[in-house]
Amino acid sequence: MSRKWNFSAGPATLPVEVLKQVREEIVDFNDAGLSLIESSHRTALYNDVHDETNDLVREMMGIPQDYEVLFLGGGATLQFAMLPMNLLHSGAHADYVVSGAWAKKAYQDAVKIGDARVAWDGKDESYNSLPSLSDIKTTPGSAYLHVTSNETIGGIQWKELPRIDGVPIVADMSSDIMSRPVNVADFGMIYAGAQKNIGPAGVTLVIIKDDLLKRSRDEIPAYLNYKTQAAKNSMLNTPPVFPIYVVNLMMKWLKMNGGVAGIEKLNREKADLLYSTIDSSNGFYKCPVDKRVRSLMNVVFRLPSEDLEKKFIGEAADVGMISLKGHRDVGGCRASIYNAMPLEGVEALTNFMKEFARNN
Ligand SMILES: *Cc1c(COP(=O)(O)O)cnc(C)c1O
Repeated sequence: MSRKWNFSAGPATLPVEVLKQVREEIVDFNDAGLSLIESSHRTALYNDVHDETNDLVREMMGIPQDYEVLFLGGGATLQFAMLPMNLLHSGAHADYVVSGAWAKKAYQDAVKIGDARVAWDGKDESYNSLPSLSDIKTTPGSAYLHVTSNETIGGIQWKELPRIDGVPIVADMSSDIMSRPVNVADFGMIYAGAQKNIGPAGVTLVIIKDDLLKRSRDEIPAYLNYKTQAAKNSMLNTPPVFPIYVVNLMMKWLKMNGGVAGIEKLNREKADLLYSTIDSSNGFYKCPVDKRVRSLMNVVFRLPSEDLEKKFIGEAADVGMISLKGHRDVGGCRASIYNAMPLEGVEALTNFMKEFARNN
């Protein structure tokens, strides 16, 4: 079988080694005589995987002891609601940086639940830039400031996330988690759906500081309560066992590839190659994003016309490079080059881009 170079924004490409190991183990896990996905989640067979995954996530991100790591269902989207349900008490308020499509969704859900305020909105710059610290208007006593570390659709990424005295920062890192080192202690909470950088769809990682956890409201249903989830080690109900198992394998793969610091080097190399191909194309390819905030994960670009974009996407697919179409809301092209995309994949793409520009 010849594998495609898959530039999908998510679910995204996974390392072939990891997929092969899943294939190896899916029928008979660890000589147990059954599959892990057939095993009760209350057995040692599963519990060892669950706890080891937790340990590996902690190790990869250097998570301090006073943070809990949760594995939840519902995608990052459920966190848009769960976060304010837990932390936006009546009489309290929270601030949101609206930097693009995902941040806006998080904000719009929070408004339905409590007093969520806009601390900055990038609409005047078509969501192609990010604010400097002094542009972010937090209000005194804010329960948290919500930011989106990487806007998957717009292709913009914070190079350094904001820090504000006395305000816990909550970051949606769905599309750049573990793609570069972050200091977890700078955050009140970090969350991410697994399906971009660290596994398949179906599990969402939540990393939350104990003091924030303690503030969770008790009046909400058990599943939605961070405190209950932490007390039950994410096993209040049946956890998403299969995606957690694949995250486990992904953590081991990441570790073998130099951990987060090692993969960041590779991610920079891939993004530099792609952006320099765009910038040196004499305007044939154009990236609309402010250079200072270009994403290392999702590279968006335009061609001289929509017809050429269609042709580009079609011809790329013919030679095995798929999912280069931009998000339906913004159009154009987008190459998502997460952790598991090898340098060879980006080289294949940039070679194709140069040839396409010459021929058209
Ligand atoms: C993909 C994505 C989401 C949505 O994730 P789901 O797991 O599909 O709910 C949220 N935020 C960002 C930044 C994303 O890239």
